[in-house]
Amino acid sequence: MREDFGDLHEIEQQAEREAAAAQTPEALEEVRVRYLGRQGLVTQAFRRLGTAAPEERPRLGQALNALRAAVSSALASRADALARDAREARLAAERLDVTLPGRPLAVGRRHVLTRTMEEIGEIFRGLGFQIVEGPEVEHDHDNFERLNIPPYHPARDAQDSFYLGGGWLLRTHTTVVDVHVLDAHRPPVRALSYGHCYRRDPVDASHSPMFHQVDGFMVDEGVRFSDLKGVLIHFARMFFGPDTRTRFVPSYFPFTEPSAEMAISCVICGGRGCAVCKRSGWLEILGCGMFHPRVLEMAGIDPQRYTAFAFGMGVERPAMLKHRIDDIRLFFENDLRFLRQV
Ligand SMILES: [Zn+2]
Repeated sequence: MREDFGDLHEIEQQAEREAAAAQTPEALEEVRVRYLGRQGLVTQAFRRLGTAAPEERPRLGQALNALRAAVSSALASRADALARDAREARLAAERLDVTLPGRPLAVGRRHVLTRTMEEIGEIFRGLGFQIVEGPEVEHDHDNFERLNIPPYHPARDAQDSFYLGGGWLLRTHTTVVDVHVLDAHRPPVRALSYGHCYRRDPVDASHSPMFHQVDGFMVDEGVRFSDLKGVLIHFARMFFGPDTRTRFVPSYFPFTEPSAEMAISCVICGGRGCAVCKRSGWLEILGCGMFHPRVLEMAGIDPQRYTAFAFGMGVERPAMLKHRIDDIRLFFENDLRFLRQV
């Protein structure tokens, strides 16, 4: 009667092969049903145990139990392997490689003119000047008349502006901020402003209708021209280098008396003479002087008691000298190849 049970060893090997070949939990479940299910091969073999000869039953029962244990074990081991594979596949899919270099962020920077103004501001802040701001739209009265430039004055020709109507215009110089500060504060005052200015200049390598200025002044009892020189010489050495020499040449501005222009020894040739300084060895960088008594009077400040010095300079020119830039238009074209260099 042994034939009825088939070759148990062959069933065991076949079950093990099929279990090992199952690629999914579903396929493995099918293998389990095929062998251990209600109609499975192992289950059916147990049913036929009753038909075996009584003396054979103990040995056959033992063999069948061993078969069932072996098939169960093969199924369990394959189930473990499938679960492990699935876990590893999920981990691989979710793998985060912390050793990868980060994606570079595009870090911007402030424009070279902004940095130049802030650098100048820091030098004067160190001398006790407070940094102030003013509007870019001004009234003719403040922009010109309060600075001793009446409507008929020829100085207006050099400062033709963009007019907005009703006496309003885009400011032609940051000197107008001085007027607002004088109105708001009583002496002693030390203030510095910087920002955009506008004049109707045609665009070329050294002119732009929009440009930047720094303007500063100090008003107190006993302020003298020598104070002005000391402050500006200190600035020139801080900004252009400790070996910078300075020269003051008499000049004229409607709102200062006396007036001067300050030149520095050429930063390109060191004063020997070159194309940038037109062979003179000097570069004019700013205008300055003592505030005209009328400017103080119009601000309600007694010129008999108080005196003040003032100075103003373009920002583009010192920036161009410092960074060896030969065309003002480069500042305003937003060409990143240029902006990344300065
Ligand atoms: Zn030179």
